[in-house]
Amino acid sequence: MPSATDPDLARLRFVLTRPSHPGNIGAAARALRTMGFERLALVAPARFPDPEATALAAGADAVLAAATLHPTLPDALADCTLALGLSARRRGVSLPELDPRTAAAEALAAARRGEQVALVFGNERTGLENDELARCHAMVRIPSVDDFSSLNLAQAVQVMAYELRMIELAAVPVAATAREPPAGGADMERFFDHLFAALHAIDFHKGRAPITIEKRLRKLFLRARPDARELRVLHGILGDAERMARLAGRTASEQAAQQGQDRAAGAGEGADGGQ
Ligand code: SAH
Repeated sequence: MPSATDPDLARLRFVLTRPSHPGNIGAAARALRTMGFERLALVAPARFPDPEATALAAGADAVLAAATLHPTLPDALADCTLALGLSARRRGVSLPELDPRTAAAEALAAARRGEQVALVFGNERTGLENDELARCHAMVRIPSVDDFSSLNLAQAVQVMAYELRMIELAAVPVAATAREPPAGGADMERFFDHLFAALHAIDFHKGRAPITIEKRLRKLFLRARPDARELRVLHGILGDAERMARLAGRTASEQAAQQGQDRAAGAGEGADGGQ
């Protein structure tokens, strides 16, 4: 594979989520190859490899050959610290919305700081589902007209690749940052698993469905983009909350057992030894 690609650009990947038509995979490969990119990640494609993909790649075969295959979107984003979801419509998820140019500038700036960055595209018919967008830090909408807003998948890829290319050619210097790089997708997912388990352990939901609060918390922590050290502190707090919940549970059951014994012994008001 010709590896003339700038290492900064190599930190940018184009993720196609559940693409139905292999022709679109090929056309997307061509679109990004023309703009100097080569990383294509495919999440559960309906058909790949496929002769139609090869035909529409029109010679961008190396991009297809190097495309990575993933069973799920979190798997494709495991090492990404920034994921931008492309969507024609504002779904139920109220993510920050960027226009393609601003998104391209942010994506390239992050890549130049050494971060792994993903541009995430949805299925041709259904677009990105809410739970897929919930894995993204921001949503990007190509400002098409309201009554015919949906571009062909590969054309949407082309628009983003072009905007990235324009920013790259403008060679805008990237401000240095003193901060640690934010945690990647897999670490964030581990944190969310811990957070949601801890909320159950402390009975935060009290019988209500957890889904809305979980979405809000996802949004909050994705916006904060904590680094590895900050995540360790949060895991520590959650671990202690879980431990206290276990202790409280034990104390409550000990108290109940004690009360049972007191009653059995006919002792009436028992001493409160549970504290
Ligand atoms: N019916 C789907 C459209 C899918 S088009 C929907 O309404 O969401 C396939 C993919 O191309 C989309 O998931 C998105 O990633 C991208 N795309 C198409 N038009 C877009 C637009 N105007 N802005 C941003 N992304 C767009």
